[in-house]
Amino acid sequence: MRGSTAKRVLVAGSANADLVVRAPHIPAPGETVLGGDLATVPGGKGANQAVAAARAGGADAAMLVALGDDAAGEMLEGSLRGAGVALHVVRSDRATGAALITVSDQGENAITVAPGANMDLRPEHLPDLVDVAWLVLQLEIPIEAVGAYARAARAAGVKVMLNVAPAQPVPADLLASVDLLVANEEELAVLVGAGSIGDRLAALGTPMAVVTLGARGCCAWTGESYVLQPAFAVSAMDTTAAGDTFCGALAAALTRGEPVPAALRFASAAAALATTRAGAQSSVPTRERVDALLAIAGHDPSAAAALADHCGVASHPQLTIGFT
Ligand code: ADP
Repeated sequence: MRGSTAKRVLVAGSANADLVVRAPHIPAPGETVLGGDLATVPGGKGANQAVAAARAGGADAAMLVALGDDAAGEMLEGSLRGAGVALHVVRSDRATGAALITVSDQGENAITVAPGANMDLRPEHLPDLVDVAWLVLQLEIPIEAVGAYARAARAAGVKVMLNVAPAQPVPADLLASVDLLVANEEELAVLVGAGSIGDRLAALGTPMAVVTLGARGCCAWTGESYVLQPAFAVSAMDTTAAGDTFCGALAAALTRGEPVPAALRFASAAAALATTRAGAQSSVPTRERVDALLAIAGHDPSAAAALADHCGVASHPQLTIGFT
């Protein structure tokens, strides 16, 4: 039996060198903005989530990743191994993936990805799933590979988390193999157009679905009840990788055996801390820092009420609201 003893998180996904520049605002089409110095740092949704799962502690983290034979690939390998992520590397003839990121002084970001090596991940690359509790997937690698990995995991009794980012429609056969879907508000809108956020989460048809709502917090549908977790109050300065930190920390917390409300609370605290530092993998907090934030957090009834209203679930009979 896999379920009771499995203790690993496996992320199969993208790794990118993030080329980051801060600017007064995100340029509009046709506009040129003079920014600050260029920073080249390790990123990519898959790699960020793997680092987040490793730093969250209590679960071993591994990643299936495709890298080019170049300096960016070396940087990413160093970052992942440094965080304690065990690697299954597919070596590609293409350049390692890159993301061109502008971060505004308001903490917003705009990103263009050149996927490169990430496009070389194929269905046959999935490693052995022994001891894997959760397989974590995103949409920055070929969709055929994502679908094949999800089906293989389902067949092996491994739970599948799909972060539907970047936003795009998801084939029905992939959705059918997903245990937990994570979307932000824009990504959810691409999957289900009409209804309240709560109704749209339930309409996805996955056993569990979570929408992250930035500084508002998040809302989960568990098949019978809604779990709301307001965001932790922090001074956000760079929201890059907030969603990735949320996903990786959530997978680790669930693998540790935490119930859904506690796992959402842990993931939200980790994601909040990620917004207080610049960069992607460099901004992902350790378990010690997350536990320290959880220890001092209190209850904010007005934030919880606003979140329930925003999601249209305030009057649902089965509603759990987490402390912040
Ligand atoms: P994405 O980065 O994928 O768009 P969100 O912006 O929804 O994802 O952020 C993911 C999670 O990170 C949120 O659910 C929340 O818990 C946390 N978060 C994001 N922005 C903030 C913020 N300004 N303050 C506190 N927590 C935040």
